[in-house]
Amino acid sequence: MKVVIIGASFAGVSAAFAIRKKHPTAEIHLIDKQQTIGYLPGGINLYFDKTIGPIDTAQFVSEQQLADKNISLLLNAKVIGMDSKQHVIKYEKQKGEFLLSFDKLILATGSSQWSQKITGSDSEKVLKYKFLPGVKEAIKRIEDSEKVALIGGGQIGGEAAETLLKMNKEVHLFERMDYLLFKYFDEEMIRPVQEEMSARGVIFHFDETVEKITDMDEGLLIETKQSNLLCDSAIFAMNVRPNLQYLDEHIRRHTDQTVLVDQYLQTSQKDIFAIGDCIQVPYSLSKESFYIPLVNNAVRTGLVVAQNLVEPTTPFAGSIRTIGTRLVDHYIASTGLTEAEGLFYDQPISVAHVQQQSSLFSRGEKIHGKIIFEKESHKLLGAQLVSKADILEKINTLALGIQTGQTLEEFYQKDFLYHPYYSNVIDITNQLGFEGLWSEAYED
Ligand code: FAD
Repeated sequence: MKVVIIGASFAGVSAAFAIRKKHPTAEIHLIDKQQTIGYLPGGINLYFDKTIGPIDTAQFVSEQQLADKNISLLLNAKVIGMDSKQHVIKYEKQKGEFLLSFDKLILATGSSQWSQKITGSDSEKVLKYKFLPGVKEAIKRIEDSEKVALIGGGQIGGEAAETLLKMNKEVHLFERMDYLLFKYFDEEMIRPVQEEMSARGVIFHFDETVEKITDMDEGLLIETKQSNLLCDSAIFAMNVRPNLQYLDEHIRRHTDQTVLVDQYLQTSQKDIFAIGDCIQVPYSLSKESFYIPLVNNAVRTGLVVAQNLVEPTTPFAGSIRTIGTRLVDHYIASTGLTEAEGLFYDQPISVAHVQQQSSLFSRGEKIHGKIIFEKESHKLLGAQLVSKADILEKINTLALGIQTGQTLEEFYQKDFLYHPYYSNVIDITNQLGFEGLWSEAYED
């Protein structure tokens, strides 16, 4: 079996390793237009805070690891076309064009940062650093800039703001909504983080949608309906769009241009699959599917596609959008539905808040937690955690509870470890389940 995977990043690489395990004798080819593989998109922050040395070392996999598994890697090769009926793709390398046939094809070409809506956002002073060439350019420009605008107040924008603050830059953050990270947090949960960012110098421009960027001799002019700002450079910290210019007309797509796949990740063409940022993923809490470009979805779809290459056996479980990061000394994590999104959920929801020490002795910092659940059935729907203690891993427990359809009653008495130094007498995740139940009692 000859398997060709286009795109050697999180999705493509995880698929290649999983296919090698399941099909030890398969011929596996990974193709990518980059010169190197495995760049970590958040690497620029690791570089500026000196967690890593040279930016090229922000890598999650090496060429050697692929070679060790007998996976062939073709770099500097851009796929420019395909014939899905004839089972062949066309790629460009050093100005020559070549054909490659396949028995099974996996589309893992991910996404890039671009916007049709913001005029001028393709200027080279508007920095996009998902891939290594972009990040190298961004490093130079950021170092030379005094005043930087961030377009987007999601995870990328938040993390960039912190990095820029540490570099003593003047930071302006534009966000069309009225608070940070609105996809993942309710306003009251993220407010302390936002206040700390303001106190450290971030100038927020909430409720402002960037419409136009003009590259001028003096710098970049950022225009919204409410204001104009002249700055030295801007960071494009917004949504990404799939890279699929090479598809032929037989591969069906959604209106947002992502590839349409069935639950086994197969496209509308036999033997052709799509994974990672090329596809929408089913939202585990409703019957809809969404575009949720996250590494965890890319890796998991890579693992699942390996199961389904020969026979459709394993449906993809979907996503509840679990994230976590650290901003201005606060660890913040979220999974599942927010209270604000509850408006669109088809059942009434309830919420409960908890405040708890992270542990009695080991620098016991306060943890703020919130749980969102179905009012009637008590099924868990979402959770958010904010603390100066590192609680990031705890969100995975909550995510598993949601993914496996647990109720408050089941969740509050799940097993947990207790240690007098490292933990509290009741884990915050159990406490959230318990508070959820009691919040209902108070209401009645
Ligand atoms: P991609 O990583 O986009 O990789 C696609 C690959 O395909 C690339 O290597 C590309 O060169 C190649 N390719 C594209 N077109 C062609 C072609 N025609 N021919 C050959 N090769 C091609 N997610 C998280 O979960 N956590 C984070 O902390 C996080 N941080 C992020 C920070 C930034 C700045 C950005 C922009 C995104 C971040 N994300 C994060 C999102 C995450 O990067 C993506 O979800 C993830 O990279 C998707 O992986 P993928 O393998 O599907 O695609």
